Amino acid sequence: MEYAKACFEDHSQPLQERMSREVIRRLYELPLPELLFRAHSTHREHWNPLEVRMSTLVSVKTGACPEDCAYCAQSSRYEDCVPFQPMMKVEEVLETARAAKIAGSTRLCMGASGRSPREGREFEAVLAMIRGVKALGMEACVTLGMLSDDQAQRLKEAGLDYYNHNLDTSPEYYARIAWAFCMPWQTLPRLPIRFPSTA
Ligand code: SF4
Repeated sequence: MEYAKACFEDHSQPLQERMSREVIRRLYELPLPELLFRAHSTHREHWNPLEVRMSTLVSVKTGACPEDCAYCAQSSRYEDCVPFQPMMKVEEVLETARAAKIAGSTRLCMGASGRSPREGREFEAVLAMIRGVKALGMEACVTLGMLSDDQAQRLKEAGLDYYNHNLDTSPEYYARIAWAFCMPWQTLPRLPIRFPSTA
């Protein structure tokens, strides 16, 4: 327990280097109340515990994904998939961003279904959305699946603050939940990356 704690508290190394398998295993084995206590303590060290920061999530393109990730309602291969909504118009998204800002959000997160962003009009639209959101004085976050280096670079140049990437399971287990393609340990932009717990 103390080993994992020490590794986390040693800020001389980047987080990725401190997160060895051993550290993760020891954290995993901690009792839940201890984990909660540590999480709250760390949060209180850096933030006002009574303050909530709001982000708004917009699905800018929904459903009709040809992949078959077993947990995902956006896959067109399952009967209970969500209805398809093509890429939203940039102005529609910015309208949502303005409303979100008025309601108190400081960040707009834009998610699009699919394995990778489609080059051309769709990707250009996402870049325009990011620029528009930034021009409103908000943070911009996207989740688009696998990226090429060039796409990652263009997202960064458009002003993207965060790339939201879901790690669903380990590479060893991935083939059991997504048959069409293997674990996307893919290109990620050199931006802060958030790892949410759900897709
Ligand atoms: S690639 Fe993404 S959108 Fe498509 S089924 Fe898998 S998780 Fe869902």
